[in-house]
Amino acid sequence: LQLANQIAAGEVIERPASVIKELVENSLDASATEIDVTIEGSGSQLIQVRDNGSGIHPDDLCLALSRHATSKISSSDQLSQISSLGFRGEALPSISSVSNLSLISRQHDSECGWQIHHEEEEPEPVVHPEGTTVAVRDLFFNLPARRRFLRSARTEQQQILTTMQRLALSRFDVRFQCQLNGQQKLNLPIAESESQQLARIGKICGQAFVKQAIAIDQQFDIITIKGWLGHVEAHRPQADQQYFFINGRIIRDRLISQIVRQAYADLIPAGRHPAYVLYMTIPLDRVDVNVHPTKHEVRFRETRLIHGLIHRAVKDQLQQQII
Ligand code: ADP
Ligand code: MG
Repeated sequence: LQLANQIAAGEVIERPASVIKELVENSLDASATEIDVTIEGSGSQLIQVRDNGSGIHPDDLCLALSRHATSKISSSDQLSQISSLGFRGEALPSISSVSNLSLISRQHDSECGWQIHHEEEEPEPVVHPEGTTVAVRDLFFNLPARRRFLRSARTEQQQILTTMQRLALSRFDVRFQCQLNGQQKLNLPIAESESQQLARIGKICGQAFVKQAIAIDQQFDIITIKGWLGHVEAHRPQADQQYFFINGRIIRDRLISQIVRQAYADLIPAGRHPAYVLYMTIPLDRVDVNVHPTKHEVRFRETRLIHGLIHRAVKDQLQQQII
């Protein structure tokens, strides 16, 4: 069982940033509006995610650490209607199999928090505010090979920050904080108005992007595409500042980036490079997010149609407002 979890961990948990992604997604799935992330030593010493979400009942704490136990779907027909970020029930058991994990949770109607470290353990009462704290210590302590594959502290920290930024762009209605080795790296209050949202985007994508970004808000019969289109100096790395979300989930799909890039062709000043933050919504049964364990790629039911609509939406908007 431990081995099965470690193998699953190999697929989903490549590095500290992957742990952060899984834990923060769990917090978002639990309807948290405040998420605090604390990292020590590029994540290999400590990754802690605390939220004010709905919490886990003490009777379910052990389940949360056991394999394929998800509270989010209960039958296979729900697979085509996934609105939560998680659904495989793999992240916590996987992380727990390659680290020293502590899970504390307190639900709304509970008088204290309950803590466990292992699936087999009885929960113990602890002082804790409403919500959940997951602390992951000594990541990959039992997998020296995996540990050796980690990059320099700087690279891992950059990955962590990028992951946090993607998550923060996915939900303006959640406050995000991130501390790295005692230094505050992100402090993003809830952003309701467009100007507050642009302020958050400015902190993540830079003021240069925000200054020339144009808003996009296009609706077709089944999809909507909203967000901001702009450009950055071309000497910046290719994938920098290109964010595409589908139903609130960050996507890194090569075809989609290619389509957006094509829509920019000829409409972008020389020496500039597309930069965008785009939010697409599409009915859940027309998109499959169950393609890969890390859930970065998507498959549409009508690929050509959807790709065509994305292209048109971006191109129309850019043509209307010559950039
Ligand atoms: P999944 O997200 O795919 O369901 P996970 O292994 O990530 O699987 O989490 C297992 C279960 O633990 C979730 O289904 C959820 O019920 C519970 N859980 C995990 N993290 C939290 C959290 N921060 N708040 C509330 N419940 C949580
Ligand atoms: Mg999860």
